[in-house]
Amino acid sequence: ATITNHMPTAELQALDAAHHIHPFSHQAELAEKGARVITRADGIYLTDSEGETILDGMAGLWCVNIGYGRKELADVAARQMTELPYYNSFFQTTHVPVIALSQRLADLAPGDLNHVFYAGSGSEANDTNIRMVRTYWAEKGKPTKTTIISRKNAYHGSTVGAASLGGMAGMHAQGGIPIPDIHHIDQPNWWAEGGDATPEDFGLERAQQLEQAILELGEDKVAAFIAEPVQGAGGVIVAPDSYWPEIQRICDKYEILLIADEVICGFGRTGNWFGSQTLGIRPDIMTVAKGLSSGYMPIGASIVSDEIAEVIGNCEFNHGYTYSGHPVACAVALENLRLLEEEGIVDRAGREIAPYLKEKWEGLLDHPLVGEAKIVGLMGSVALTPDKASRAAFASDPGTIGYICRDRCFANNLVMRHVGDRMIICPPLVITKAEVDLLIERARKSLDETL
Ligand code: PLP
Repeated sequence: ATITNHMPTAELQALDAAHHIHPFSHQAELAEKGARVITRADGIYLTDSEGETILDGMAGLWCVNIGYGRKELADVAARQMTELPYYNSFFQTTHVPVIALSQRLADLAPGDLNHVFYAGSGSEANDTNIRMVRTYWAEKGKPTKTTIISRKNAYHGSTVGAASLGGMAGMHAQGGIPIPDIHHIDQPNWWAEGGDATPEDFGLERAQQLEQAILELGEDKVAAFIAEPVQGAGGVIVAPDSYWPEIQRICDKYEILLIADEVICGFGRTGNWFGSQTLGIRPDIMTVAKGLSSGYMPIGASIVSDEIAEVIGNCEFNHGYTYSGHPVACAVALENLRLLEEEGIVDRAGREIAPYLKEKWEGLLDHPLVGEAKIVGLMGSVALTPDKASRAAFASDPGTIGYICRDRCFANNLVMRHVGDRMIICPPLVITKAEVDLLIERARKSLDETL
């Protein structure tokens, strides 16, 4: 029989468990519990197969910046599918959607980031970056500059290359990563690792680890440093103010390419178009994905400087994906960017919603479980602690506090994610002040029930 939204939930769950392997999930546990079946979505709300309405505090997977249900994007996709559903730009051809999107991204991106290489996802774009920076240095006559420095607890994707760049211990434990010539320094997570240092001193110390690593590895070995302006999947870790200026100074001093992974931070998430603008970073490459199409189509890209494009342009860069610059994905992304700008969504999120949300989010600090509340634009986290004064941590194994709180949120029809003992929000940028109130009300209720 045809499988539809109208089937009983239990049947859908059984079929799902029988044939679908979920990403980042413990299959057997999930099968026992049954995955919640999402059937529709509109604005910031999801609907499930039981007819419940759920506030999506995570914008899907940090990606639905424009919110759900924008018919304009569906119409553009349908038109593009009819006119030119697929073509590529490998062998001396191009097409209008890829030309238009590239020009638009060059306009939006800061500095001289004027050239775009496309991928199907953020992971793929970061794989592109690994090969691109190494090729860049080889073309400049410095082929020993191959090492890329990244950070522990960073998330840069799930392909072998991107997971190697990332610093997630759980990922490194499986499947033969990291690849060679990737080096990790510590993350600027003051709450968990700052000890007695002030946040400012700690930020400086963590940034200076980059300089130490460059000196230890050798200036002639290091190609690039990659980082998320605000670490997302690692728990929305906001670096102390002293951190980024020092990182920028070090990259400039040693001529290390700076790759800002803007996959989450891009397209309005931090209150500006790009996280690099919010944090005062001047990257040579930005990785983008997610908010580029608001998740409506799979697309990612590396946006690179004039200098990198020129150097790479002097050789044949043997790299590309069948779906690099996919016309339907490009057309949808372009329309998404048009709406984000013309409807003032990025602007309003940064000017009106971000300060309102910040006040409410930081208000959670009066809750007995909440030790730290961090927020930049519309991405925030709280650290749960059994003892605020000592900044003690709960264990982060399954079944412990973060999982309990996440499940309480879900039961209260709020999607919040947890990473260890941090609870995270990243709502669609179209969220209203009244909806912020609802989000906070449900978060507080869930925290109460976690106690
Ligand atoms: N980079 C960052 C900062 C991310 O947060 C993610 C996904 O969460 C990725 C890269 C990987 O992107 P994708 O899942 O589209 O491959």
